[in-house]
Amino acid sequence: MPAAEAEASLMANYSGPVCRFCRREGAKLYLKGERCYTPKCAIERRAFAPGMHGQARKRKTSDYGLQLRAKQKARRIYGLLEKQFRNYFNEATSEPGVTGLNLLRHLELRMDNVIYRLGLGASRKQARQLVTHRHFEINGRTVNIPSYELKPGDVLKVKPANGVIDVALEASKVRPVPSWLSFNGEDKTAKILARPDRHEMESGVEEQLIVEF
Ligand code: SF4
Repeated sequence: MPAAEAEASLMANYSGPVCRFCRREGAKLYLKGERCYTPKCAIERRAFAPGMHGQARKRKTSDYGLQLRAKQKARRIYGLLEKQFRNYFNEATSEPGVTGLNLLRHLELRMDNVIYRLGLGASRKQARQLVTHRHFEINGRTVNIPSYELKPGDVLKVKPANGVIDVALEASKVRPVPSWLSFNGEDKTAKILARPDRHEMESGVEEQLIVEF
């Protein structure tokens, strides 16, 4: 099996430690929810790559290497398989405007990411699980597809009497809701106000390097 395919299938079934991904990229990817904001974060304690050569002196990385790492980092932040990521990229290139920005907007407007941005899940992984467990409605209809792409004007609602969401909401208060979303805590309803601007998306993603890749 080619390396990329092997990694993709590994990611699909991966349930092991995720902090190694942050250590590999040398940055916090916020994959574990609450723990990421505490001194227990692995990047705070061991800021070097995992594995026996993790602390070895670093060789200069090639342009290709930098571009590859930028792509892998973005894929891991949003928890996507190689193929899914490539599909978003192809879509972004076929649209008018700046490809990197188009790509990021597709990723940000995924339903699992919107749930995470609203603070209804402590991590994107948890947000995805809440979606598949049918806790939300979009425009009055239950949607359980994490990749469902929302658009400005859509209304997202937490299903009534939902204790699971209350717990998740409590756990994720550390993140402010971005201005392209509104959230009413009383009736747990959110609205997509606009497409996100670059400064309100993941600052750690280097989309120019991804496009070059
Ligand atoms: Fe990454 Fe969070 Fe683990 Fe820190 S705690 S290394 S940010 S997943």
